Amino acid sequence: MSDEKLLSFIKELSLLLEQKPSEEIIFTKGKTLLERLIAVDDWLPVEFSKPHPQYYQQYLLYADPLDRFSVVSFVWGPGQKTPLHNHTVWGMIGQLRGQEKGTPYYRQTDGSFKAGAPCVCPPGKVDTVSPNTHDIHVVENAMSDQVSISIHVYGGNIGRIQRSVFDLNSGAEKTFISGYANQLVPNLWNPAEFSKQICE
Ligand code: FE
Repeated sequence: MSDEKLLSFIKELSLLLEQKPSEEIIFTKGKTLLERLIAVDDWLPVEFSKPHPQYYQQYLLYADPLDRFSVVSFVWGPGQKTPLHNHTVWGMIGQLRGQEKGTPYYRQTDGSFKAGAPCVCPPGKVDTVSPNTHDIHVVENAMSDQVSISIHVYGGNIGRIQRSVFDLNSGAEKTFISGYANQLVPNLWNPAEFSKQICE
């Protein structure tokens, strides 16, 4: 396992966001960075890839100190599925392992929600969400017999943001804050390398 890939992604995305890009640029240049990160499934530490028998897991991999973005590993056991929910910030969902189905929903005049075209993501593919266009969706593991993992990148610290779940039929809204499953985050900076640099 190498933290190099994740660290490179974080550095490059930080440099991109430093330029205060439009969402269109984030969903092109930023998306390319995420596609590169998930192109080869050989870097995610095992402690951030563990499923829970009952609930899909959200492991924080990195939170930008300026709250411009966060990177989260979502781990889905067979049959696990989110409720209908929003994000309130832009998001990119990169499939690393297995397969997930994301279905966007659109509010109707009577308050209920109607499903749009689902996106089934094989490894290497990136889906997006945005409060400007398509922020409300349901995500589920499309594999009935294996774990699926996706790397999510959001335009804020998603585990600290107040957002909502919705009732499909009545449209009723309930606020929530998702939090994270892990107490630890990856050590992106190799301590041995660090002390070597200090000594030189
Ligand atoms: Fe979502």
